[in-house]
Parts: sequence; C-alpha cells; structure tokens
Amino acid sequence: MGGGDAFVLMPTGGGKSLCYQLPAITRPGTAIIVSPLIALMKDQVDALRANGVSAACLNSSIADGEARQVIADLRAGALDLLYVAPERLVMDGFLGMIDAARISLFAIDEAHCISQWGHDFRPEYTQLSLIKRRFPGVPVIALTATADDQTRRDIVAQLGLADAPAFVSSFDRPNIRYSAEYKASASRQLLEFLASHKGESGIVYALSRRRVEEVAAALRHAGFSAAAYHAGLPAAERTRVHNEFLGDRVDIVVATIAFGMGIDKPDVRFVVHHDMPRSIEGYYQETGRAGRDGLPAFAHMLWSMADVMQAKRFVDEVGDPDQRRVETHKLDAMVGFADSSTCRRRALLGYFGEALADDCGRCDVCDTPPETYDATVDAQKALSAVYRLGGRYGAGYVIDVLRGSRGERISDNGHDALSVFGIGAELSKDAWSSLIRQLVHRGYLLQDIGDYSTLKLLEPAGPVLRGEQSLTLAKPPAPRPKAERAAKPKRSAIDLGPVGADLFEHLRELRRRLAADEGKPAYVVFTDAALVDMVRRQPHSFSEMLSVSGVGQAKLERYGQLFLDAIGEWERAR
Ligand code: ZN
Repeated sequence: MGGGDAFVLMPTGGGKSLCYQLPAITRPGTAIIVSPLIALMKDQVDALRANGVSAACLNSSIADGEARQVIADLRAGALDLLYVAPERLVMDGFLGMIDAARISLFAIDEAHCISQWGHDFRPEYTQLSLIKRRFPGVPVIALTATADDQTRRDIVAQLGLADAPAFVSSFDRPNIRYSAEYKASASRQLLEFLASHKGESGIVYALSRRRVEEVAAALRHAGFSAAAYHAGLPAAERTRVHNEFLGDRVDIVVATIAFGMGIDKPDVRFVVHHDMPRSIEGYYQETGRAGRDGLPAFAHMLWSMADVMQAKRFVDEVGDPDQRRVETHKLDAMVGFADSSTCRRRALLGYFGEALADDCGRCDVCDTPPETYDATVDAQKALSAVYRLGGRYGAGYVIDVLRGSRGERISDNGHDALSVFGIGAELSKDAWSSLIRQLVHRGYLLQDIGDYSTLKLLEPAGPVLRGEQSLTLAKPPAPRPKAERAAKPKRSAIDLGPVGADLFEHLRELRRRLAADEGKPAYVVFTDAALVDMVRRQPHSFSEMLSVSGVGQAKLERYGQLFLDAIGEWERAR
C-alpha cells in the first residue's frame, strides 16, 4: 500500500490474494494481476464483483464485445483490478495500452512458474522480467506458495526484486489434519476414509488417467457422488466437472494433478492422495486445497513401495544430471515424509525450513505414535537373506524365502536349501515388508532401481550383521480385526451438532440453487465459513445478518433476505 515492491511467500489459503487486492483497491489506478489459469481468473473476478469490487479479466475466453468494454474501462480508469494471462501481458499491443493507463501495481501470482526449478515451470513467465524495466515506477508484488530456496532466489532475480522486502509467513495450516497409510488394499482404505466424509466436498488425486477413471467409477458404485477429471477428457467435460464441483452438485472429484491451480474452492473438506506424489512441494500444494476457509479439513495419503519405484523410474529418465539430482533429493524427502515415524506436521514444516516447537497433536503419528521395538534380530534375518541371495532378488522374493514359502521359483533355484529359508516364518508378509522398507529408508539396504528393484546390502549393514550394533525400529502394524475397524469413531470435518447440521444443509441447499441459477461457484454466494457462522448466530434481521462473518454490504443486499427467509422457514418447521 506504501508503493514498494514485495516478495510474498505464503501457503495456499494463507491470504495471499489479499496482499495485492487491498493495495489494488486503495491505490489510485488499475492493478494488473498476472495469473496463469483462466479458470482461476474468472472465479476471482466473480468473487470480487460479488463483494462490490470493480474487477475484470482479459483472456482468450472473453468475447470480443466484452473485451472491448474491459479495455474501455481500463482507459477510463474504472477498474481496480485487471487479471491477465502472462502471454497477454507481454504482447506489444497490450503493453502500449497499459503505458497509456494509470497502473497502481503489478502482481505476479503463482510466481514460481518463472523458475525451471519449480514444479510448475511455464516458459512464458520468463518474459515477465520486462515489467520492472519498462515500468520502473510501478510497484511489483511477486506471490507464491512454493518455497524451496532455489525457486525463491530465481523469482527474485528474474523479476528484478533483489531489493524488495520478502514477506514470508508460516507454512503451517493448523486446520488440516495430516495422515498417511501404507497401501494394503487401496480401494478398501479409500472407502474407509471416505465413509466419515459423505456429502462433503473433496478431491482424490491419482497418478494416471486410467487410475482416475477406475477410482471414480468405484466411488460411484459405492454410492458416492464422484466425477473423473484428467487432461485426456474433452474440454467441455472438464468444464462441466469443474462447475459441478464448484456448484456443490458433485461431492468428489477424482483427478490427476491436471485438476490443480484452477481450484479456488474454499470449502474442500478433504484431499486424498491415492498414490504418492513425487515431491513434498507437490504434496503440500495439493493438500493445501483443503480447508482454505479455515474450517477443519483432512489430508490423507496412501502410498506404497510400488509408487516409490514408479517415481524413481520417472526421475531416472530426467536427462540433465543437475535436474536429476534435484528430483532425486525431492523424491527421497517425499518418501521420508510418507514413512515418517515422527509428527507428520513437524516433518512437513521441517522440509520448508520451519522448526516446530512441539509435536502438533493433529496428525496420525501424534494420535497413535508407532511402537518401537528392538528389531536387531529381525533385521539380521532380513539382511542375511539379502546377502545369501547374492543381492539379485527383489523384496517380494526375499520375503518368500524368509517365510519359507514353497514357491516353484524358489525350489527351482534351490533356495529352499539356504540356511535363511523359513527363519522368519513367525512374521507376516506385511510385517517383513515394513521392516525391509525401514532398512531401505535408513540406508542399510539399497533397492536398486537400475537392476529390477533388487535388494542389495549397503556398508552400514555390516555392524548389524556382526552383532556390533543394535537397531530400534517401528513395530510393524498388527493386522486390525474387522470389528475394531468398524468401531472407529466417525469424524466429520465441521461439528455443528445434529440440529445445526440440519440448518447447515438447509442453507447449503439454498446456496446450491442460487449458484446454479447464477452459473457461479457456490462459495461466491457464501462460503462454508459464512454458512457455519449463520448457523451459529441464526440472524433475524439485516443488522444481525451483517455481523455474520463473510457477509458484507454487497452480499447483504443480494442474498440477505433470501437467507433470512430460509432461516425463518427452517425455525418454523421445527
Ligand atoms: Zn503431529
């Protein structure tokens, strides 16, 4: 607001947009907001207009007549905010137009797209370096939610913001509860998680298009309102799914990460990763789409060693050795997070260089800390088996030998005659798999991706095998009996009590209808947070309505009476 440049690093949902919207409204002239996604632009403009702010966007989806009006408004100084795509901004014609207009500031949103180190590089962003040279007197704000140091330095250097103060806020999203689970049966685990989230908005991310289709079909079959979204679908179908989701007419979108930056829906109550993402940045960005309204939300991840192997293959195909090193590091950190036996939030924030004073108490590890035990003997058994098998077999085969399984391949190879054959019969397959994973993770074993994922001994295995070092590991989870699973308390995101929940549904239905009539996302009418506050306050007059969080003058005039009527109607019916 003081007219200086700024670099803003804030997590998704941290109030990033406000950092340019407020100065845009208070400073004279029009703010130019550069944003990479057209869908996101339209939603932001809708939301601003619903609050009485003069905003517009210019992109390929705008009809000619409307575009001419927007340009006329810009020339007349009638716009506070104008959203444009980066490729539009750098066009000569457009630059000439803003030369002639009064510009209050430039905001570069999703600024990490400028860096090839970021996970979302867009070549057209690199041309934005011309802004500072061409408009030296106009403040530039670069904003991102992606934090690694390399990307951050790149943004500042390329946009010429070396002297700008950096505003870095905590990456903690206190309302999100993080959890991760090793995949035993992904579809059963997914349904178990979703059982306590029926009727809530959520996203399920899967790695491939085929998986997306399968999971969406399985969820519909299980009675959920779910739709598939991936880049292979026709544009019209993608738009339809997007709008149905925003309009609360479909609860769950099963998607590849193509369903990404365009999702500006504040009331997403859960994000599930059906497969492990390749980096913590990606994971953080995707889970960050949950609970942007500040109400309780869930981030649940399923992962497996097969996911890790697949990601490793992908990383190994990266041609540039430097880039490959970076990707390998990112993947290792991701696996470390998935397999973490310390507080999940501590591990996550630690990755972004933020130290947490205490364990969070709001993650699966804090809820049920893994039991540890003296695993020296079990580790010796596993390491000896790998040694006896000459480092030429994968985890599945090693486990079969340990458990004394009479497979054909084992007897053909004569491995049933080895001293290690059957020495681990007392542990289950899952238990051995967990133990081997921990040995890989801690650097005693190498899972050699370049050699069919075979297990090989690493240097530190020596002292353990010779009995010179003992090992404490997380106790493999005992298989849970079915009854216990069913008895697990149901947990829903927003707790209003049964009566409150009924009113909430009543108001949500009205919101759904209004959103459908106006062709807008539901949250543009009112956010979940506003509806929750309405349920708590149950306003009966305009002035009481105005004290509801998220209800300003513009929305009061537009929707106030409708919602007051709905509350009164609900009260009379009770
Ligand atoms: Zn925790």
